[in-house]
Amino acid sequence: MARNTDPVCKMCRREQMKLYLKAERCFSPKCPIDRDALPPGMHGARRGKQSEYGIRLREKQKLKRFYGILEAQFRRYYTLATRSPENTGEQLLSILERRLDNVIHRLGFASCRGSARQMVGHGHILVNGRKCDIPSMLIKPGDVVKVKTNERSLKLARESLQRNLVRVPDFLEVTNNGDQPEGRMSRLPNRQDVDERIIEIREQLIIEIATR
Ligand code: SF4
Repeated sequence: MARNTDPVCKMCRREQMKLYLKAERCFSPKCPIDRDALPPGMHGARRGKQSEYGIRLREKQKLKRFYGILEAQFRRYYTLATRSPENTGEQLLSILERRLDNVIHRLGFASCRGSARQMVGHGHILVNGRKCDIPSMLIKPGDVVKVKTNERSLKLARESLQRNLVRVPDFLEVTNNGDQPEGRMSRLPNRQDVDERIIEIREQLIIEIATR
């Protein structure tokens, strides 16, 4: 599956907010956003007032960059969200929270979503006892996500758990089954479960641009 390969700090500078795409660096004084970095590009500092369309576009880009998805995936999730009788914006966020790479990150097995995606892609993760290497797989309540028992997989997860950069949300339960880190989704995520670092996202504006 294709992914965005732009420099990650540049994405944060473009959105003028921390998107936490780089694990420890995001919490260190090296983060360019903490040092008031300007938006990228020769005229980054000179951008004028944003149009109504521009504001909505930026909200959508923020969301896509935070969860590491591209436009085609965003469209797919939006279509899925519109099929639900619930609020479309909240459904969209709930679907994104259910992605396997996001679940791995929020359980603390990977320090950022990029590492989580790589862990899944390299086959370090089991879902309900079976190997799964698809980062976009949607996890359901009751599903159990485990790290494989080989030394390399366990080392990656343990290192991330030791860094302790992530707060496990209420819809996930983390268990250390012996030496094998394991987590379970106890219920579907709702609006309050969205990562607190992006909780101020205005999903209504995203839906407005997606319906155009
Ligand atoms: Fe870079 Fe992380 Fe800071 Fe974003 S939050 S600019 S990814 S260090």
